[in-house]
Amino acid sequence: MAREWTGIQQFPLATQTKLLELLGTLKEKARDSLTILVMGKGGVGKSSTVNSILGERVAAVSAFQSDVPRPVMVSRERSGFTLNIIDTPGIVEGGYVNDQALQLIKRFLLNKTIDVLLYVDRLDSYRVDNLDRQIVNAITESFGKEIWRKGVVVLTHAQLTPPDCLSYDDFVARRSEAVLKVVDSGARLKKHGIQDHVIPVVLVENSNRCKQNDNGEKILPNGTVWIPNIVEIITNVATNESKSIFVDQKLIDGPNANERGKAFIPLILAFQYFFVIKQLQKWIKDDIAKAPKSSWE
Ligand code: GDP
Ligand code: MG
Repeated sequence: MAREWTGIQQFPLATQTKLLELLGTLKEKARDSLTILVMGKGGVGKSSTVNSILGERVAAVSAFQSDVPRPVMVSRERSGFTLNIIDTPGIVEGGYVNDQALQLIKRFLLNKTIDVLLYVDRLDSYRVDNLDRQIVNAITESFGKEIWRKGVVVLTHAQLTPPDCLSYDDFVARRSEAVLKVVDSGARLKKHGIQDHVIPVVLVENSNRCKQNDNGEKILPNGTVWIPNIVEIITNVATNESKSIFVDQKLIDGPNANERGKAFIPLILAFQYFFVIKQLQKWIKDDIAKAPKSSWE
């Protein structure tokens, strides 16, 4: 059962008004609940972001070993609207995607509908690597590439001073581009070489030291009031033309190559019998017939 969303009262009035407005928009579109799945590497700020959005300390945050090994769903209700956020552990261990952790997440999501996927990484990282590719691929393989049509790239630690006299906007643009490149290629959203869906990127600063505007709302170096902003983007993605992802057993089992191949086994056997074995037998017979008889014969 969902608890009353009391955390919303923690926000400055301006933020509360905006958030309620967005919930109103969702209700207008006949939505009375929203389920957000949060995924990404360990320590990038997934749990902190969940807490920031809800205005409550619900997900365990820590600088070291920050992940509980299993997913957690937090549900909050506000005037007939239910917000579910599923925080997940990082799925990477020792440089590889941990299949067991991934399996645990998939099982947790069974019979749930994902309206929005928040793919979290840090803004203040300077490279994307093979690990990022592996995670994006693991998400794609787990839930299908369509999940990215419900995807939002979230970049945390957004209160930063860019190096090398880059402007903040340039830095954000470059980092966004780098992360999106990985996501796009893993998500395989390109059709005939053209991108047919653009995944939004949002910035987040979870630190208490985040700057505030005159209304007491947390703002980023570019002036964005980030909490209403991320909720707005989430609302847009939830109500975009693509369908939410329902996680059923079939999706969890995945398009297993063994299963798919099974239908062809009798066909392959028949082929082997008629074309390979028969042919071989014929060659052997011919060979025997052609072979010069030995003297004792
Ligand atoms: P998770 O493993 O992805 O769930 O990451 P956590 O939310 O547990 O955060 C890991 C560490 O990063 C904690 O020490 C957080 O306080 C810190 N952290 C998370 N988000 C931010 C952020 O936006 N800015 C700053 N400065 N620190 C953050
Ligand atoms: Mg966490």
